[in-house]
This record gives sequence, structure tokens and C-alpha cells, in this order.
Amino acid sequence: MQGCVSVSAPTSVATAPVISAPVTVNGVPAGMQYLYASGEAAAVSIQAWNAFVGYVRTQHMPTSVVLAQGASLAAPTWTTCGIKPKAAVFDVDETVLLNLGFEYDASSGQPWSDPRWQDWERTGVKQVAPVPGARAALTQLRAMGVTVIFNTNRSAANAAQTEATIEAAGLGPARHGETLFLAGDDAMGSKKDGRRATIAARYCVVAMGGDQLGDFSDLFNAGQTPAARRATVQSPAIAAKWGAGWFVLPNPVYGTALKGKRDEVFPPAVRWAPTGGVR
Ligand SMILES: [Mg+2]
Repeated sequence: MQGCVSVSAPTSVATAPVISAPVTVNGVPAGMQYLYASGEAAAVSIQAWNAFVGYVRTQHMPTSVVLAQGASLAAPTWTTCGIKPKAAVFDVDETVLLNLGFEYDASSGQPWSDPRWQDWERTGVKQVAPVPGARAALTQLRAMGVTVIFNTNRSAANAAQTEATIEAAGLGPARHGETLFLAGDDAMGSKKDGRRATIAARYCVVAMGGDQLGDFSDLFNAGQTPAARRATVQSPAIAAKWGAGWFVLPNPVYGTALKGKRDEVFPPAVRWAPTGGVR
């Protein structure tokens, strides 16, 4: 498998690593070139951040964008907030923070391992960068009186180092248990709904940002095929939330997006081959 790189989500605390075999160009996986080095990805990210801040600015009678208890993806109801203070909730990895050092190491080709990711959480404090647009957006949100809260599957055992990493990237403050929630804070492992409920009990969550669908609801990860999951995202009730409470950042490098066999990615109706032996 020379030239292939196995990478995985840092969100895989309680789940099997997601293995992918990206196309490499000049020895670098194409997804890494896109996410960590392209102007295009920077523009997509800034587009999301600009939309995020613009949306929050218009929320004078805010609604909580955390799914209500008992809601489903078919009936994804939100709730009113009452007088709770406003917060915005973000995933960390590849949402506000780019893990350049870890992915540099991963790009050399060894399979993903949890011990190496844990080592990265403890020691990769400086080899990171903010996602383009994130720092300015978080500053604007805080200036509007919106508390910025991070809900990440980094480990609670490494809370101090994760606080330091977020702050080193200029994205802080982050305080464990107050504005930083981690895997291990409750008994639900890498599932984030419990932590979202804890945050929503204290705050009116006016908007959320993430690079994985699980950053919005664990219901997206309930074993659907890629096609069914993609259809769910486009259903009218869920489609209405993208860019209007739920904001997605790009990640073609690792995670729950990178699934599907060739036959699933390209359904029969779209398969084409050159005519007349053209090559
Ligand atoms: Mg992430």
C-alpha cells in the first residue's frame, strides 16, 4: 500500500479508527493539500465563519439549536431558550484548530494509533494553527456577549494540555468544565449529545460549528449507509439548519465522511466509460 496513508479521526475515542487510502500528489494526500495548504479551503472556512457570526448577530429572540429531548432526524425540533445566557458551541479538531503537526507525522504513512494521538494531545501544543477565520469569528462572538464553548472528543485526562493548545492558537480562553467539554466528562464516550445537554442546561446555544455530523447530533451516527446519511442531511427539516444554526467546516482528511465503496460512491446511473477505445 505504498503511497497510501492511514489516517483517522481524533474523534475515535470509543470507536474503531476510520481508515482511508487517499490519493497522493507529490507524496502528500490530496485531502491534506486541500485542507492545510489551499486558498480554496481557507475561503470555504472563512465563508462558514462569516455566515456563523452573521447568523448569531440576527438572533434577538434566540432558539436553542441543540435538538430537543425526544427529537429525531425526521422531526428535529429545537426549543426556546428563555432567559439563559447565550453560547456558541464548537468542536475543536479541524473545526477551530488545524492539527498540522499530527497530520505531518501521519502523512509519512504509518497506520493511525490511539497512543500516538494521545501523545499528540499531550505534546502537540505548538504545532497547530487556527482554522482560517476562526480567531476573528470567536473574537466577534465574545464581543457580542456570546460565551464560546468547546465540545471535543479529546480526552479529559489531557484537559490542561488541550486548554493550552487552544489558547496557544489564539482561540481561548478554554476552561475544563466551564468552556471546555471533553471525552470522559460523562459515561457516553465519544458521543457528544450528553455533553451538549449539559451545556444547554446552562446556556442558550444559539449556534454550533463542527466538521463531523456528530458535532450536531449523535443521531447521524446511528449506523446509516453513506447514501442514507447523505439523504438525511438533505431532507427538508435538516437542510433548513445548515447555515442557519448549524455550520459545517470542511474536512477531507479524516472522519465519518470518508466512507463508501466504489459502487456506493458512484451509483449505476452515473457510470461512464470512454467510447470507441479512447484513452
Ligand atoms: Mg473535528
